[in-house]
Amino acid sequence: MGSANGRKSIFITGAASGMGRETARLFHSKGWFVGAFDQNGEGLKALEAELGADNCLIRRLDVTDKLDYEKAIAEFGAATDGKMDILFNNAGIGAGGFFDEQPFEDILKVVQVNFVGVLNGIHSAIGLLKATPGSLCFTTSSSSATYGMPGIAVYSATKHAVKGLTEALSIEFRRHGVRAADVLPGLIDTPILPPEAVKNAPKDGMFRAIPPMEVAKVVWEAYSSDKLHWYVPPELSELDKAAGNMPEVVREQIATTGPIAKMIADAQAKSNG
Ligand code: NAD
Repeated sequence: MGSANGRKSIFITGAASGMGRETARLFHSKGWFVGAFDQNGEGLKALEAELGADNCLIRRLDVTDKLDYEKAIAEFGAATDGKMDILFNNAGIGAGGFFDEQPFEDILKVVQVNFVGVLNGIHSAIGLLKATPGSLCFTTSSSSATYGMPGIAVYSATKHAVKGLTEALSIEFRRHGVRAADVLPGLIDTPILPPEAVKNAPKDGMFRAIPPMEVAKVVWEAYSSDKLHWYVPPELSELDKAAGNMPEVVREQIATTGPIAKMIADAQAKSNG
């Protein structure tokens, strides 16, 4: 028997930090075996020290590397006797700025990590998920998948792609008994954000700063549910409905109020001299 010793198991990418790390901690506290994968080896070691080496498998992985991803899945499968109860595709990067002012390499990198990384994960792990009754393929999308967000246009596009992929796979994978779902977090207090983002966040409302453990709790809840999209906080679902029903109204709101409107106005003022 592998080191998971018959325990339920979760494979988490982006596990060295933020919501991936909190999810590892929560599932460990529930008695699950945790596979923690990230580019950040130091962060993984700290996590292992906290969880105990018998309770987790840590491994460096760049999610954009399909061949290495397959090796990581095989190592995880050896520890779990070929099972995976949850695949949590969570690793991601953010890059801000106007599309036309970003180097094209930076744009492609966001697509590689946030979308191709997710494709790599699901394609590599589907065998283990199929072999595990009640398994869940869970992916981190974003509130920026409700309406395309200026200032983070490509990031937002990758998160729309994740959401669409999840919807389609949640139907395709029924024939294997594998569920697919995603989470759309708002503003979560993690190192991915620029430091001023949390400081400047509103104290209440749907874009208040939320601790990453709240996302971990959603992953836990999703395992026992057939719900497709999880919003953190839940009222973000209203934004999604509005964007679907009245995209022009939402477009004008984003363009004329709030921080993005200010960013665009500042840039305009600068270019006018
Ligand atoms: P984070 O920076 O704390 O964690 C992201 C982790 O992903 C890091 O540990 C990083 O090393 C890892 N990572 C980055 N590129 C990688 C790669 N190529 N291979 C493997 N690991 C890689 O940020 P977080 O907020 O916890 O982010 C988790 C997910 O949540 C991301 O997909 C992010 O886009 C998404 N998200 C975050 C917020 C937010 O406000 N924090 C909101 C919506 C969605």
